[in-house]
Amino acid sequence: MAHQWRGIIAEYAQRLPLATAGAVTLLEGGTPLLAAPAISTRVGAEVYVKVEGANPTGSFKDRGMTTAITEVVQRGANAVICASTGNTSASAAAYAVRAGLRCIVMLPAGKIALGKLAQAIVHGAELVSVDGNFDDCLRVVREIVERTDTAMVNSVNPYRLQGQKTAAFEIVDALGRAPDIHCLPVGNAGNISAYWMGFNEYAGRMTATSFDHPSTHLPPKTDTVPRMWGFQAAGAAPFVAGEPIANPETVATAIRIGAPASWDYAVAARDDSGGLIDAVSDDEILAAQRLLAAEVGVFVEPASAASVAGLLAKAEAGEVPAGALITCTVTGNGLKDTATALEGADVNPPLVAPETDQIIAQLKLR
Ligand SMILES: *Cc1c(COP(=O)(O)O)cnc(C)c1O
Repeated sequence: MAHQWRGIIAEYAQRLPLATAGAVTLLEGGTPLLAAPAISTRVGAEVYVKVEGANPTGSFKDRGMTTAITEVVQRGANAVICASTGNTSASAAAYAVRAGLRCIVMLPAGKIALGKLAQAIVHGAELVSVDGNFDDCLRVVREIVERTDTAMVNSVNPYRLQGQKTAAFEIVDALGRAPDIHCLPVGNAGNISAYWMGFNEYAGRMTATSFDHPSTHLPPKTDTVPRMWGFQAAGAAPFVAGEPIANPETVATAIRIGAPASWDYAVAARDDSGGLIDAVSDDEILAAQRLLAAEVGVFVEPASAASVAGLLAKAEAGEVPAGALITCTVTGNGLKDTATALEGADVNPPLVAPETDQIIAQLKLR
């Protein structure tokens, strides 16, 4: 093989606090940073989407899972466990297969998109359906790892954020500079913390989430860092409320979280960058999902569209600087949740006879 992307641990070896030998990888990362003229025109800026649904299990979670599970193997635990709204379990299950580890998944009952559940099942994870929400699942997981020799791979595992920061590196590598504004969905708030760390390390600065290892002090690749614009679903927006909320509700199940684990880091990312964390309605999220599919050519799951929904709302409010360079992470693949995408759609196209002339006429093809 002459040339292939090698996965984030090999590609960014100098900037990660891990040995590369024995890395557990599915060659994640290296995802498209795609120009989005349909969005650029609407907001009066130059907009790109970072298509994280192109990762091996269909979400950005793979970036953090390669580092977390590599570290678990180096440490020598024999099982991994996570609480999950779906994508963490899909990713953990696949990487556990590569590592030969047991994988235990705590799922909030009834709130998982079917595609994600299918992934955990086909990869052989051991599923436990908890009669509670994501926050309840996370508490149980924390208690289990305290009492047993099981490693937690939720984003409170610091190696998760280390891996996830590489998406910021890729954006700067692709653009040749940092964007002015970076937009992304916020759920448990690990990703906004990780991107902030990544952008800062590329600018030669440290954040509270940075590991202080020698490579953190490599020469900077850029002078600037973006403003971080995080967007939550209105029914699950603890950062907007200023405190955890008890019963989060949104169609965007991946960000249906009331008590984000990375609270302080996310607040630091928001405030130190001069950014914001705002809320968007489920209708705005679904409209942005349709826009991405119909006009950009990217099918994302609902939570992923919160970044674009938020940017569009800010533009509507006149708060997007004209001509700014803006990147939006779209976090996961639309194929994971086709039920939501097809709601209200006509899935039975008209039945016709296999008569070419008739079909050409009916379609008005010329
Ligand atoms: C996990 C996830 C999020 C939320 O990311 P946090 O790091 O929890 O804020 C958003 N979208 C998708 C598709 C996800 O899988």
